[in-house]
Formats: sequence, structure tokens, C-alpha cells
Amino acid sequence: MSLQEKLQQLFLLDQHIRGIRKRLDQAVARHKTQQAKLGQFRSQRQELASQLKMAQVKSASADNQIKDLQQRIDRLRDQMNNVKSNKEYSAVLIEVNTLKLEKSKLEDAALELMGQVERLQQELQEIEARCQQQEKLAASAHAEVDASQAEIKDQLDELTTKRVAAESQVPAEALAVFNRLAYEHEGEVMAAVVEEDRRSNDYSCGGCYISIPIERVNALMTHLDQIVCCPNCGRILYLDEEFKASMGSK
Ligand SMILES: [Zn+2]
Repeated sequence: MSLQEKLQQLFLLDQHIRGIRKRLDQAVARHKTQQAKLGQFRSQRQELASQLKMAQVKSASADNQIKDLQQRIDRLRDQMNNVKSNKEYSAVLIEVNTLKLEKSKLEDAALELMGQVERLQQELQEIEARCQQQEKLAASAHAEVDASQAEIKDQLDELTTKRVAAESQVPAEALAVFNRLAYEHEGEVMAAVVEEDRRSNDYSCGGCYISIPIERVNALMTHLDQIVCCPNCGRILYLDEEFKASMGSK
């Protein structure tokens, strides 16, 4: 195996490993999103529950106040039957009418509160249903993370073993260049040569899409144990199978 092929093998293994990890990363991100939504629904539910509780307390207190007023009115009515003078009668009557007015206002408020309680109960039911649905979504996203982790474990172990073997075949100097470029290009260390137009010797780098001088393409084809880089982006160039096949059929 030539140096170029060894490097390409290493590069492809790295790509494969990154691809596999990406699926897991995506599953983790999806789970995070579903968890965040669940948290939002739960806090909405908590907020509504406390609003409902407050409205229920107010509603009960209004009912008690109405009962109190009714009792006071009843007592005053009894009093009216035993009054001694017209003046006294009028005074009690005025008090009764004042209390009746107060009671009527409270009854309106109590009705309003009852409506509020019903509305909040309805909203709470809806958010409860949404919470339950979201819990299912979050659980399934979590299961996906677990499955993805379990699924890639074997593959990752296998690929890592292969990578160690592939790496051991690359001379130290070339490996140092490979690692440095891998770091600079976030893993995208190699780029395939793209044939734009063979008749005019027009080739470009599959990494940065800038054209490559024909001398470099020739070097790639003839000096298989040399590292040939793109003059623009610096990635290590390689010829993919399609390119080689088309060259062979020339
Ligand atoms: Zn390039």
C-alpha cells in the first residue's frame, strides 16, 4: 500500500468515526430540546395550578362573606318586627338596604370568580394533557440516545481498532503532517481532486474548489509515496476511485 493510500485509509476511518458520533450527538441534541419543552410545559402547569388555587380561595371567601351578610340581614329583619317607633324602623330598613346592595355586589364578584375557576380548571386540564404527551416524546428521545449509544459502541470499538492499525502503518513524519492538518481543518484533512475538464487540464480541490496546477495532479499519479497538498487550502490531495478509474480508461 502506498503512502497516499495509507493516509486515505486513515482519513476515511476518521470520517466514518465522526459520522457515527454525529448521529449520537444529534440524538442527544433532540433529547435536550424535548426535555426543555417538557420543562416549559411543567412550569406553565405549576403557574396555572397556583393561579387556580388563588382563585378558589378568593371564591370561597366571597361565598363566606355573602353568607355573613345574609345572616346580618336576617337578624335585622327580625329586629324590624320588634321596633318601637317609625324612626327606629326606618333606620333598620336603611341598614338592611345597604347590606343588600353590598351583598348584590359581592354576588356579582363571586359569579365572576366562579367563571375564573372554571376557566383555569379547563386550561390546567389542557396543559396536563400537553405535559403527558411531551413526557412521552422526551422518553422516546431518551430511548433514542440510549439505542444510539448502544448501537455505535460496537462499531466505534471496531473502527477504533482499525484506526490504530491503520495509523501504525503511516511513517511518523507523514503522520505528524496528517495530524497537524487534521487539527487545522477540523478533521477534513484530505480533499479529492475534482476533474473539471480533462482536455484543458482543469482540475480543482474538492475541499476549497480552487483549481490545482496540473503538476500537482501529475505528482499525485506518479509519486505515490509523497504527500501532495492543495496550494490554496493546504489539505492533502488524493485521487478517489472514480478518478483513478477514469484515468485508467483514458
Ligand atoms: Zn484546497
